[in-house]
Amino acid sequence: MVPQTLAAGNVLGIAITADKYDCIDVLKFASGNWLQPRQNKAGDLMLLAAAAYLFQNAPAFQEITKAMILNHGGPYLTLSCEEVESAMNWRVFCLLEEQRSFARLRLAEILLAGVNDCTGTCVHKCGWSSKYAYAYLKLLERQDLWPTHLLCISKAIEIAEKMPDPIPEEPSVSCTFGYKHAAPEYRRNRRWSLADLNNSIGLCLHCIRSGSATSSYCRIEH
Ligand SMILES: [Zn+2]
Ligand SMILES: [Zn+2]
Repeated sequence: MVPQTLAAGNVLGIAITADKYDCIDVLKFASGNWLQPRQNKAGDLMLLAAAAYLFQNAPAFQEITKAMILNHGGPYLTLSCEEVESAMNWRVFCLLEEQRSFARLRLAEILLAGVNDCTGTCVHKCGWSSKYAYAYLKLLERQDLWPTHLLCISKAIEIAEKMPDPIPEEPSVSCTFGYKHAAPEYRRNRRWSLADLNNSIGLCLHCIRSGSATSSYCRIEH
């Protein structure tokens, strides 16, 4: 009789009622399905995050907040409402903003670090490395991957994953070690860093509920 899916507003409504009558534990199993992030809009994700907070479902809370950080470019406070604020600690809003800012900075760092990519570097001042670095920077700008444009993280990661390596337009001077020259493999070398970043996103419910500012004392390993 228990429905497999429910509208996000109803899930939060049930969570608030269950919390009031102290029957969170009874609904733990059924709520697992309702808390799947799926293709929800940002406002619905906020309702689901508050529900996962009340149901004390840490994996669902992590998945939902991850979707919010990756896909939402605007402010989180505008997604809030009375029910959300009554259910969830206000620190969640700060932590969402904080983790998204950090993720954008890290993404910008991964992308810009490409100019120092050590594969394909020539140290003999022939211009080989700089012509590639310049072509790479121009490519980032053309693909809208400049640091100030990284509003939607999931979209930027998708573009970066598909972006082919640049082909320089400028020539370099002849070089005694020209036989050692190789094109830098930017795309291959940033793949792991992008995957690492993607895996590190999402808030830990244990940390938030314990009120701890650091993950060092968390009951799960970060
Ligand atoms: Zn050279
Ligand atoms: Zn934690």
